[in-house]
Amino acid sequence: MESRRFLAGHANARLLAKDKAIGLLELLGSFGELYGPVRNGGGSSTFRAVKKPADIDLNSLRTLLPPKKILYPPTDELLEFTADGGFRSKEETGPARIVLFGLHPCDINAVLTLDQVFSGRFEEPRYLARRRRTAVIGLDCLPDELCFCHSTKTDFSDRGFDLFLTDLGEAYFVRIGTALGDDIIRAGRDIFQPIGPESIDQYKDKTNRRHAAFSHRVELVDLPHILELDYDSEIWESLGRKCFSCGSCSAVCPTCYCYDVFDQVNLDGRSGSRVRIWDSCLTNSFARVADGHNYRQDKSTRIKLRYYHKQIAFVEQYGRPSCVGCGRCIAACPAEISVIDVLNAIFREKVVK
Ligand code: SF4
Ligand code: SF4
Repeated sequence: MESRRFLAGHANARLLAKDKAIGLLELLGSFGELYGPVRNGGGSSTFRAVKKPADIDLNSLRTLLPPKKILYPPTDELLEFTADGGFRSKEETGPARIVLFGLHPCDINAVLTLDQVFSGRFEEPRYLARRRRTAVIGLDCLPDELCFCHSTKTDFSDRGFDLFLTDLGEAYFVRIGTALGDDIIRAGRDIFQPIGPESIDQYKDKTNRRHAAFSHRVELVDLPHILELDYDSEIWESLGRKCFSCGSCSAVCPTCYCYDVFDQVNLDGRSGSRVRIWDSCLTNSFARVADGHNYRQDKSTRIKLRYYHKQIAFVEQYGRPSCVGCGRCIAACPAEISVIDVLNAIFREKVVK
């Protein structure tokens, strides 16, 4: 997926003047279909195919849906069938090459998390096929009050990108992550400049300013053990009473990957298709089985499962939590449930009020 290439010293980075940013976006369009955060009305932005490079929101902080929707579509038709028992698998379709522009460090770390899941014991070939055709261009950001990626240690990317842009004010500091990133730099040799001592100092200043800009710290040390101890805590009952089971938190989460598969029959009654859709462990139907029994009827057990899977089960399987601290679930929750408050309450207050 990623061929890492280490280049010596200053060869590992370039400078891109801000007035050349559109030139870079046009260049990226020649490396594949360009996707990035595009402005909506009302100040938000959405990851989507970019028609005009100028549409890209270079200052976007948090898109509603993460870039996983490009690599792992919300609905995906897997096969077509007919009443006589025949079926035909549907090929994974998508652009021949994809360029994902504007991923912040949390989202890059989230894509690396999905890579681990989908390339593990049970490979997910459709995701992996798209992923292998995808270039990632990272872009730094300044956190708002919902970000806690410095606590989850996903506020920096040292891999998972081909190029990574850091905004220095007048120019971008461009780190080169892979051989493909190096190819892009070579193809755009007219728009990039060598870095000098001044830009290195500015890069360090920006990194320090970004570290200082986080307003929350979430305690994650020993969290899996503390959560185990808090299995019967009133916190879960309290959260269950607040939660609407809408599943929005899973839909917007860049590392949630559960899905459901169902058959839809066409109006002719003789043919149809099998479709995979994103699912959420927060919904009432998630743990319902064939005879109608529901293993997680209570909202409290479902919301507890979400926290235990992200913070315990994922750590046991992959060595780190799957939450990357992006804050999307906080922004999307109609019940105003905040993962920051919940995790801090587990450590400090014990009971969520
Ligand atoms: S759980 Fe919430 S904060 Fe963590 S990665 Fe998912 S959406 Fe982001
Ligand atoms: S978004 Fe909030 S209300 Fe909806 S399922 Fe998630 S925690 Fe519950």
